[in-house]
Amino acid sequence: MLTTSLHQELKQITQGRVKFDEPMRLHTSFRIGGPAEVWLEPQDLEELKNAVAAARAANVPVTLIGGGANLLVRDAGIPGLVIHLNAPAFRTWQVEGSQVLAGAGLGLDRVVALSRDAALGGCEFLSGVPGRVGGAVRMNAGTREGDRWRAMSDIVQEIRVLKRDGAVVNLSASEIGFGYRQSRISDGIVLDARLQLAPAAPEEIGRKITDLMAYKRVTQDLSAPSAGCIFKNPGPDRQPASRLIDRAGLKGMRVGDACVSTRHANFIINQGSAKAADVLALISAVQYKVLQEHGLFLELEVQVLPA
Ligand SMILES: Cc1cc2nc3c(=O)[nH]c(=O)nc-3n(C[C@H](O)[C@H](O)[C@H](O)COP(=O)(O)OP(=O)(O)OC[C@H]3O[C@@H](n4cnc5c(N)ncnc54)[C@H](O)[C@@H]3O)c2cc1C
Repeated sequence: MLTTSLHQELKQITQGRVKFDEPMRLHTSFRIGGPAEVWLEPQDLEELKNAVAAARAANVPVTLIGGGANLLVRDAGIPGLVIHLNAPAFRTWQVEGSQVLAGAGLGLDRVVALSRDAALGGCEFLSGVPGRVGGAVRMNAGTREGDRWRAMSDIVQEIRVLKRDGAVVNLSASEIGFGYRQSRISDGIVLDARLQLAPAAPEEIGRKITDLMAYKRVTQDLSAPSAGCIFKNPGPDRQPASRLIDRAGLKGMRVGDACVSTRHANFIINQGSAKAADVLALISAVQYKVLQEHGLFLELEVQVLPA
């Protein structure tokens, strides 16, 4: 619970622009989630720093939300301060030779389109991956491009991070600790990322984008709200979780309005008014059955908030 003094301080820092009890279902691709106790879209770095410092001094948790495309927010909502970097100050874009500096709040679709316009290739694999730069760095988002896997770790040179103590530091790619759909940026706030791209003809980039989008439309289930793949591909050889779930006969399994997609078994879709509790119950059932059937535990890719 927020103290009255922190409540007042946040209002003052943000000139009254904070919101209280903001429904998170409005900010997640799953369209699920209880309220954020405090919702803040800071105008600039100064306001972000001040709000985070005030929350941390009061021992109130701080949570970052990007595009909300990889989140399952619990029905009870998120306590403390929830920050969304959506202001123009966090959606910056700068081309420097064959590198670009992209603000954490910039949409991945914009990154792909602006790179194409600047005749820079290398980030086409982000076509059709919803979210923002900050969330994509944190998740090491990636996908298959033809016969190879590509991820943020292939193009991120360095990032700028606001640390817990209020310092802003640069982290090189090796310091980010990229792994399969993860990084080690646990409580740092990503402010922007420097991406290494390569000169390419916009027409050629455009063709790649079209092909990738067509592939996504065929393979993914975009018919209803979801958070993309729920589980990581397990084991050292990363067997597709979708195949394991399918072979366990779980396509179409449901709890309430939460349903294992019949199109892509690693998607759980919200067919109306699914609750986070429904999705969590379905996740447990799928994990149990796949473990029984294949002897493999499916780790979550989706981030459950609060953890
Ligand atoms: C239809 C669909 C298709 C998808 N396809 C793919 C795919 O092909 N490949 C793939 O990898 N993913 C895919 N996803 C998942 C999602 O697009 C990615 O995980 C994406 O990177 C999430 O970015 P986001 O900005 O929405 O992050 P969010 O979901 O908002 O947040 C994800 C995590 O990042 C943290 N975070 C967000 N912003 C910051 C910040 N500025 N600083 C620090 N931490 C931050 C959050 O706290 C959370 O822990 C898909 C999702 C959907 C709905």
